[in-house]
Amino acid sequence: MTLPRSTDVFVIGGGPAGLAAAIAARQRGFDATLADCSIPPIDKACGEGIMPDGLAAAQSLGIDLDAAGARPFRGIRFCEGGASVEARFPKGHGLGLRRTTLHGMMVDRAAEAGVRMAWGARVTGITGEGVIADGQLVGARWIVGADGGQSPVRRWAGLDACERDSRRFAFRRHYRIAPWSEFMEIHWSDGCQLYITPVGAREVCVVLISRNPHLRLDDAPPHFPEAARRLRSAASTTLERGGVSASRRLKSVCRGRVALVGDASGSVDAITGEGLCLLFQQAVALAGALEAADLALYQAEHRRIGKRPEFMADLMLLLGGRGRLRHRAMRAFEGHPRLFARMLAMQVGELSPFDSLTNGLALGWRMLTL
Ligand SMILES: Cc1cc2nc3c(=O)[nH]c(=O)nc-3n(C[C@H](O)[C@H](O)[C@H](O)COP(=O)(O)OP(=O)(O)OC[C@H]3O[C@@H](n4cnc5c(N)ncnc54)[C@H](O)[C@@H]3O)c2cc1C
Repeated sequence: MTLPRSTDVFVIGGGPAGLAAAIAARQRGFDATLADCSIPPIDKACGEGIMPDGLAAAQSLGIDLDAAGARPFRGIRFCEGGASVEARFPKGHGLGLRRTTLHGMMVDRAAEAGVRMAWGARVTGITGEGVIADGQLVGARWIVGADGGQSPVRRWAGLDACERDSRRFAFRRHYRIAPWSEFMEIHWSDGCQLYITPVGAREVCVVLISRNPHLRLDDAPPHFPEAARRLRSAASTTLERGGVSASRRLKSVCRGRVALVGDASGSVDAITGEGLCLLFQQAVALAGALEAADLALYQAEHRRIGKRPEFMADLMLLLGGRGRLRHRAMRAFEGHPRLFARMLAMQVGELSPFDSLTNGLALGWRMLTL
């Protein structure tokens, strides 16, 4: 595609965040152009689980992920050392969707919405007038940086300052095996977790995540004997793919006429499975702010949208890092499954802040009195 001389909104990056931002901008009547240096469908290390609130957020962009015929899951199960606790989502279901399928669906929706897409086009800078893409200046009223966790746009716009920034390392592989449960499973061990998402009638996606960049999926079996037993005879269907899971909150996500969205704008640890939901919600909020020509609105919404997933990520990382605390929590959940169900309801935004607080206090009390 030839790039235009100018556009209302130039989106740098055509991953889920860039596509969502461009679609939302079109929904508000903006002319939108997107450039990505890769060619679709773009793959990435991802747990491939989309929570019920993420499906609803995608729907608001006109993306019906259920239409992919992908594998629904009904809730979350925590497993450790032979113990397990599970809960169903209070409403709806989650979806295990191969990343390439998600990307393909989003590209189709963007085309339908009238987004101009330039694939294989690298952006090398931004100026006062617009964006340098494939060596050509494209004038832009608004510039959206959706160029992922390592975001050059973030650096160019001087938005690199962080309030928090830590990272873990993840490896993903798919296995040919019929999912053995209707839950997305998180297997816990000291210092690492394995999470397993059913993504097809005969396929699961497995992600190992830890602070150790050298801990690979082939090292996982001793840490997760139960999952290893399940997967022992399953053939892998994809090569191992690595990624960085960052817990990052920026001081600011916009400056002048530049706004960041998706992982470029900060992220929560992958263990929450909330990254996609967050970026769909950010895209909608950003388009509203562009329409009002006031990026301060986006800054405030971005902060609000991120609060609950950040809290859940902190809780999960606390459990991940403290074995004794986690064992107590597992025992409390086993004895009182309603506490776990309410924690899951909190994660997907179906519990009021007051009920979340009382649930947290009840969990704390059960753990103290075990
Ligand atoms: C291991 C792991 C597991 C995860 N599991 C889940 C999960 O189960 N559920 C969930 O909801 N979320 C999950 N997430 C989070 C989710 O994957 C991310 O939040 C999401 O991929 C971010 O999308 P993005 O579009 O912001 O970034 P990306 O997908 O990284 O896209 C950025 C795009 O920008 C392009 N680009 C970069 N620089 C340039 C340039 N200069 N010019 C042009 N193009 C450029 C790249 O080619 C790329 O396509 C997980 C994350 C990790 C790391």
